[in-house]
Parts: sequence; structure tokens; C-alpha cells
Amino acid sequence: MAQIYDRVALIGLGLIASSMSHAMKRAGVAGEITGYARSPQTRDVAREIGLCDRVCDSAAEAAAGADLVVLCVPVGAMGAVAAEIAGVLKPGATVSDVGSVKKAVIEAVAPHIPAGVHFVPAHPLAGTEHSGPRSGFAELFDNRWCLIVPQAGSDRAAVERLEAFWQALGSNTDEMDAEHHDLVLAVTSHAPHLIAYTMVGVADDLRRVTDSEVIKYSAAGFRDFTRIAASDPTMWRDVFLNNKEATLEILGRFTEELFALQRAIRIGDGDHLHAYFTRTRAIRRGIIEAGQDTAAPDFGRVKKA
Ligand code: NAP
Repeated sequence: MAQIYDRVALIGLGLIASSMSHAMKRAGVAGEITGYARSPQTRDVAREIGLCDRVCDSAAEAAAGADLVVLCVPVGAMGAVAAEIAGVLKPGATVSDVGSVKKAVIEAVAPHIPAGVHFVPAHPLAGTEHSGPRSGFAELFDNRWCLIVPQAGSDRAAVERLEAFWQALGSNTDEMDAEHHDLVLAVTSHAPHLIAYTMVGVADDLRRVTDSEVIKYSAAGFRDFTRIAASDPTMWRDVFLNNKEATLEILGRFTEELFALQRAIRIGDGDHLHAYFTRTRAIRRGIIEAGQDTAAPDFGRVKKA
């Protein structure tokens, strides 16, 4: 595949940045990849595994001269990182990010972007519960969506170049405005994570009563919650603090529906429960038909006899 950017700088070297680096190398879309992480330990690991062509000791050093700079730090750290690199950005360069929240990140980063530099926020909808530079892999973005969030007056050529870049990394791309993005993600990702965190917390409280039975007999439903609830605490703290409005809106609706189901159970309204579960089952079918998950039982974890 043809090179898209001469030099790409990754600021933050965790799951997403390391996966981007592997995917960039697979696709041959970057001439040189530079990287920076906050702690010397992470930078040492990145050097040891050859994650980037050059691991730098400051964000500014990594960003200087880059054609694309991607901020891959927790949402709450984006503004400070943007301030740090603002003075060294090359005219005509693109600054992007991979943050799970868009409105708050744009508010924090945009004021630092100098004239003549393009700011094109993005969010790859792909991840795992693992973090750090060793957790990345080239296939993470394959057949997943990357949402691009152009700003008013964004340079079309810069937006299209970033879309071509994410497509080369394996993603499908779509454009969306920040507010809509934050609401969609509150439904599809943020509220479900909070519910998983809560469910695992409840089970943990119960475990103290039933001595480890919760873990011992952990069935598929609960196991899936524990996987989600193992996600990085810093990343998810920042997601909730920065997507407050949309998350609270969805949790409000969730609570109302939960009360309705609770009432149906209490009064023995089987028709209500059956109709509700029939509707939700159809949604699962839709996700499989859209190629966004496997139809295999238990996500393919069931071993064949
Ligand atoms: P990660 O594996 O935990 O890596 C985070 C990186 O950011 C590390 O290199 C860390 O450096 C650095 N960092 C942390 N706090 C910082 C600070 N205050 N200042 C400067 N650098 C800091 O995280 P990730 O999963 O790659 O997530 C990165 C971004 O992608 C987040 O904005 C997240 O919302 C978004 N995202 C995540 C997922 C997912 O499922 N994980 C999916 C899509 C988007 P040290 O290692 O030196 O501490």
C-alpha cells in the first residue's frame, strides 16, 4: 500500500497507539513512526519491543516535524498534551486523537491548535480490556468502524487523508458530529461499561456472603461482565467525567426500563417480559448481520467435543 504520511507521531503508547503502530507497519502507510509515553518504564518497553522507529523523551520531540500527530492518552489528559506540543507543530500537519469522548476533547484540544495546522478528531471503535504498549496487535481495527469528527471549516483534503489512513489500518470510516457521537457512544459503550462495573461490584459484595461461589460458578453472562469491568480504570474514569450529560441521559432511561421490568416480574406480567426479550433478541441478530460480531455460541469460546 502507498505511504500516506511521511512521519506519524503517537503521543501515549498504550493499547490503541501500539495497535496503530502494528497496523501502520502492516499497511506501509507511514515513512517514520515516532512515539512518546509519559513514564520512562513505558518508553523502555516500547524501545525493547521496537514499537516505533524512534521513541522520544518528550511529546514535543515526538511531534516535531510530524505530518500526523495522534493523541492516544486518556481523555482527561488530551488538553495538557496538546498544550505541550502546540509550539512545535509543522505547518500543514494534522493533529488527531483516538479519545472515546469527542465534545470534551475538542473543547480541551482545539484552543491549542495553531493556525495552519488541521485538527481532525477521530475515534476508532475497537478495543480490548488490556492496556499498555505490549497489548497492541495489528488486527485490532480490522472491519471495525472509525468515526471521524470534522470541525467547522475543516480542510476536506486533511479529513479525507485521515479517512484513507484509517481505512488502510483496516477500519471502515464514517463522519459524525461530536454531540451525536457522544450520545451514540453513551448507548453502545459507556452506559454498558457502567452497568458491567456495577454488576461485578454487586457480585463482589455478595461473594463475601457466599464465599467465592460467585466466581466458582461464574456463568457466561457474568463472565462477560467481568471482562468489560476489567477495563482500564483511568480511561473509564475519564470517559464518565467527560461524557457526563449523554451518559446520565442514557442511565436515566435505563433506570426507567429497569423499573418497568422489575414491576413486570413482581406482578407476574410474562407477556411484557416475553415481548421485551423478543425485541432485544432481534437486535443481536442485526449486529451479527452487520458483521460486527460472531454468531458462534458463547462468542466462539465453546470447545468442540
Ligand atoms: P492505555 O493502554 O492505558 O495507554 C494510555 C497511554 O497514555 C499510556 O502510554 C500512558 O503512559 C499515557 N498517559 C496516561 N496518562 C497520561 C497523562 N496524564 N499524560 C500523558 N500521558 C498519559 O490506553 P488506551 O486503551 O490505548 O487508550 C488511549 C485512548 O484511546 C483513550 O483516550 C481512550 O479513551 C481511547 N480508546 C480506548 C479504547 C479501548 O478500548 N481501550 C478504544 C477506543 C479508544 P504511561 O504508560 O507512561 O502511563
